[in-house]
Amino acid sequence: MDAAVLTTPAVLILLGPPGAGKGTQARMLEEKYGLVQLSTGDLLRAAVAAGTDAGKAAKAVMEAGGLVSDEIVINILRDRLGEADCAKGVILDGFPRTTVQAEALDVLLGETGQKINAAISLEVDDAAMVGRISGRFTCGGCGEGYHDSFKPLPDTGACSNCGSTEMKRRADDNAETVGSRLEAYHAQTAPLIAYYEGKGALQKIDAMGGIDEIAQGLATVVKGAMD
Ligand code: ADP
Ligand code: ZN
Repeated sequence: MDAAVLTTPAVLILLGPPGAGKGTQARMLEEKYGLVQLSTGDLLRAAVAAGTDAGKAAKAVMEAGGLVSDEIVINILRDRLGEADCAKGVILDGFPRTTVQAEALDVLLGETGQKINAAISLEVDDAAMVGRISGRFTCGGCGEGYHDSFKPLPDTGACSNCGSTEMKRRADDNAETVGSRLEAYHAQTAPLIAYYEGKGALQKIDAMGGIDEIAQGLATVVKGAMD
């Protein structure tokens, strides 16, 4: 299936713990189907970098691996969702993360007559997540994701996508914070699996394999969700 087949703007949600690969897969879906990736983590990191009120309130919580308040996150998401490019359809990566956020999303989408095509749960073992997260970094030039062991830079040391050599590691991608992030996931976000199951929107895929393998599983689910 290619982008041309998408006649109505789709809304896809990626669920899964930190390290499950939501960002990596969202970027691939973005390219493949012309959807817009909405990562509340990226939006919050931009707010922190810009020093906005929301960013100032979010910074310490993010560094500790907790969840930023629903109010801040919902406001940021609402603003972003209202921008013109989102009319092409969106992949939500890292939102919703609480039941309050899921309910707010239902209201937001209802206002514009949109609906969720699928909430896709990336199923992984917690034990593997620490290794995935502690080794990851992204290209400062284009945002491409890399990993010390699973997806290293080419021998040139430059990004294969844009040629930049400036790489970034997130402040919260360390072994101590990962534990808190996984705890927050199980306590506050995992209940959303039942929430979307109840709506008949849930799809589960095995996300323990390699990046391309997961992408294939995802493509099958996405294709089914668009029909
Ligand atoms: P990951 O999924 O790998 O933990 P993200 O980039 O999605 O990374 O999120 C990083 C941090 O940003 C989270 O640990 C949390 O503090 C904050 N955050 C992101 N999205 C949300 C959200 N929907 N609700 C509350 N906090 C969020
Ligand atoms: Zn790059």
